[in-house]
Amino acid sequence: MNVPLLDLKAQHEPIRKDLLAAMERVLAQNNFILGQDVKALESQVAAYSQTRFGVGVSSGTDALLAALMALDVKAGDEVITTPLSFFATVGAIVRLGATPVFVDIDPVTYNIDANRIEAAVTPRTKAIIPVHLYGQCADMTPILEIAAKHGLAVVEDAAQAIGSEYRDGRRAGSMGTMGCFSFFPSKNLGGLGDGGMVVTNDETLAEWLQVLRVQGGKPKYYHRVIGGNFRLDTLQAAVLSVKLPYLDRWTKLRQQHAELYESLFRQSGVEATFGVRLPHAAYKQNGVAHYHIYNQFVIAVPKRDALRDYLKEKGVGTEIYYPVPLHLQECLVSLGHRAGDFPEAERACRDLVALPIYPELNEDQQHYVAQTVLEGLAG
Ligand SMILES: *Cc1c(COP(=O)(O)O)cnc(C)c1O
Repeated sequence: MNVPLLDLKAQHEPIRKDLLAAMERVLAQNNFILGQDVKALESQVAAYSQTRFGVGVSSGTDALLAALMALDVKAGDEVITTPLSFFATVGAIVRLGATPVFVDIDPVTYNIDANRIEAAVTPRTKAIIPVHLYGQCADMTPILEIAAKHGLAVVEDAAQAIGSEYRDGRRAGSMGTMGCFSFFPSKNLGGLGDGGMVVTNDETLAEWLQVLRVQGGKPKYYHRVIGGNFRLDTLQAAVLSVKLPYLDRWTKLRQQHAELYESLFRQSGVEATFGVRLPHAAYKQNGVAHYHIYNQFVIAVPKRDALRDYLKEKGVGTEIYYPVPLHLQECLVSLGHRAGDFPEAERACRDLVALPIYPELNEDQQHYVAQTVLEGLAG
């Protein structure tokens, strides 16, 4: 059996007609930059994320960059973040000349360890970027308390977490100063290409972001500030508006798949026998509601690479998020970090592997994945 990590064809085939109709409509109107479709998506995503404003941008990377630019993050500033994330999180900080200050992860959720953040705050700290990794919110209450106490902005990297909820039901992107989404095709809400959005409740910041995404020109050709070309394509917005109404259904399917994996893995005893660690959904309401949106279903496995080779041989797609922690990336050597600085993040990079969890996955495929993982572990 063949089980890919992600099957976009299965996602797009049932809605193909609607996607094509949206694309034809944009083609017929011949306006490809911003416009009504982008505005519509901005209000839809803002509402979905429990925020007042959305500003469509060119990618999740540019959402982070523009958000930090709107906060005037620059050389001499420090921004606290996690060493376990996609490179864009730290890239946005460094591209502005600011210094990333890493805080190790909580080994249970893989998100930044909120208990260690305050010790990293200095007079130069300007912002905190918690990443809601794999689709589960970072522990926002203590993070927001530290930020308020020290006058720091909080930029949520919610690229993997659209619709995910914190323990009190607040949605990813709505809790900090700004929230950043990515519509990269593999995210839970993915376009047919690149796209992103910044959401916020702060009207001034929203207006500022709208100026920054058009090179900082307002009015056009008059520049008080240096921005970039951070616009979201009309075509992507039109496509994303077709897909957004399905997002809750897709999320529910991901959550059901996670439950099935958990029960299959528990039954087979992989935790006790092979030291496997299943994902921990930290936020439940009355023990029922389940707010992890499983952009990725990630297990920790000793001898991960051998298991991965076996799964590949048996047709099961996997991926490693991420093989190198940010503090050990080659381009950041000047920060002076070395192996051992953030042991939990380093361990996660050694042990974690993502299994297929996309909505259209069927039960047979899941049984096959669980069975194959068991075989691979048993050697
Ligand atoms: C995908 C992702 C980004 C970047 O989004 P792009 O749209 O690919 O630029 C940033 N942060 C995290 C955590 C991501 O997963």
